[in-house]
Amino acid sequence: MATIIDGKTLAAKVRERAAVEVAQLAGRGIACGLAVVLVGDDQASATYVRSKLRDCEQCGIRSYDYKLSAETTQEELMALVERLNADSEVAGILVQMPLPAHLDTEAVVAAIDPDKDVDGFHPMNMGRLVRDLPGLRPCTPAGIMEMLDEYGIDPAGKNAVIVGRSSIVGKPMSLMLLARHATISVAHSRTDPHELARICQSADILVAACGVPKMVKGTWIKPGATVIDVGMDRDDAGKLCGDVDFASAEPVAGAITPVPGGVGPMTRAMLMSNVVLAAKLQNGL
Ligand code: NDP
Repeated sequence: MATIIDGKTLAAKVRERAAVEVAQLAGRGIACGLAVVLVGDDQASATYVRSKLRDCEQCGIRSYDYKLSAETTQEELMALVERLNADSEVAGILVQMPLPAHLDTEAVVAAIDPDKDVDGFHPMNMGRLVRDLPGLRPCTPAGIMEMLDEYGIDPAGKNAVIVGRSSIVGKPMSLMLLARHATISVAHSRTDPHELARICQSADILVAACGVPKMVKGTWIKPGATVIDVGMDRDDAGKLCGDVDFASAEPVAGAITPVPGGVGPMTRAMLMSNVVLAAKLQNGL
């Protein structure tokens, strides 16, 4: 029986820690505001934004909620970002993705002050990550590192396999595990599908972030391995599931994250700790 890595409980701890720091910073006159910018009326994005605003409230972070119409122009959005960059009450800026197709996402991300980039997507923060320099890290892989630490799973010297190479999960995850001295393999959609199971079987730490429901089977898992399931998918019945087939994986793994209740809550919580970190960075702390 695997240890279940309880992301929900750890996320509550991370939020509590953030709340304490927000209060301490406020005592020193440092504001921890988060500006959340939502463009258009995508329902899933609106739901994510609502939960982020709720988390802010719980942590004592003042939120600034910008809801812009789907017709917002690039110039209007860039002007808002510039204004928020200059606002000392705003420690963090989050532009909810995806943006409507007519907007240039890369230009918007690059316009955010890197020290306010609480999503950790800015090229400067990606560069800091590559070079092992301090900076804001993307929330999902940062949350996974917290989970490994909380459960005493040291990546040093371990084989880590990451399935998925996106810029928000797979790639930064591989760099963070590399920084902690794991030996890294990254699989993706061009990986030989006949080889994928064998590659996964070499993993002491397996991170599944491919967006394919229940793709990783129990037979792909090395006995005792740590299995981190990033996936937020729907199975054939429309039920929320991960990229790992939990039923067959759990009896083989040493530790495993559930879906829901694993990586998801930690991703949300890390946003709060990134706001605190952003406030500190801007104040030389
Ligand atoms: P993307 O679609 O951006 O990336 C998916 C990656 O998986 C790509 O690198 C792709 O390869 C690879 N891939 C796709 N199919 C296969 C396959 N059959 N075999 C091997 N690799 C494959 O997704 P994200 O990284 O944004 O998200 C991944 C999953 O995590 C999704 O389910 C998403 O919903 C979830 N997610 C969950 C979060 C959370 O907080 N729990 C946060 C973010 C994402 P290629 O590059 O070649 O296309």
